[in-house]
Amino acid sequence: MNYQGIIDLHTHTERSFDGHFSADKMCEEAVKKGIKTLAITDHLEMYAYYRDSFDETARLSFADVAAAREKYAGRLEVLAGAEMGETVYDETIKTLSGRVAGQYDYDIVIGAVHNLPDRDDFYYMDFSGESDFYPLLDEYFFWELETAKWGGFDTLAHLTYPLRYITGKYGREVDMSRYSGIIDEILLTLINNNKALELNTAGFRQPIGEPSPNEEVIARYRQLGGKYLTVGSDAHYTEHLGSGIPDAFDIALRCGFREITVFRKREPFLIPIE
Ligand SMILES: [Zn+2]
Ligand SMILES: [Zn+2]
Repeated sequence: MNYQGIIDLHTHTERSFDGHFSADKMCEEAVKKGIKTLAITDHLEMYAYYRDSFDETARLSFADVAAAREKYAGRLEVLAGAEMGETVYDETIKTLSGRVAGQYDYDIVIGAVHNLPDRDDFYYMDFSGESDFYPLLDEYFFWELETAKWGGFDTLAHLTYPLRYITGKYGREVDMSRYSGIIDEILLTLINNNKALELNTAGFRQPIGEPSPNEEVIARYRQLGGKYLTVGSDAHYTEHLGSGIPDAFDIALRCGFREITVFRKREPFLIPIE
């Protein structure tokens, strides 16, 4: 379907270690693409916040967004955000994550798990051959549940992220029925904490060919009473801004959502899908 009100609440600028364009350039392209609402959500890796100068990243990214918000006023709604990764691995990190989330006047904080404690991002892992990935996935879902319980964010990023690599990149089949119980627990925890679930469309552009999480999980979230669904392209390049969002809207509608959630000043607003 064609939609007028394209919303993209998950994007990265050059302030992210894997980003490539300035916030200004991202906004300029978003206007050209007719996007209505754009959140800039650079990475803040909380386990390495001071060690890897993410405090500086947070400061610079927020300043960029503030400038862009003024420059593009009336043409594009620019929201200030952060993708906070690895927030719950110990009490000190949890406290720090809560403090940083409150330190800036963010519109949206995305909670993410990209790597397990003392491990590399799943992106860098080798799942070829006969290696047993289930212990890693078990641990991954454990930490997603811990993140949901912590709840110091607004929307939970790309649930099932490791499948992009295990299934997508390495073509390994995963028996997801093993995780239906814990996925339900994660979804119910989000619902009880009034947190949103993100439908992240990056997977549409990758070998896995489906979003994170997929339609089955989105449908389950709705069935369990989920109300707040956010959508994000996870664009690291201007060409990916808004990409897959119409497909995400299709999924949302099929699963029974009539509205998509936008966060402003960390409050949820339900926007009709149109
Ligand atoms: Zn992420
Ligand atoms: Zn991201």
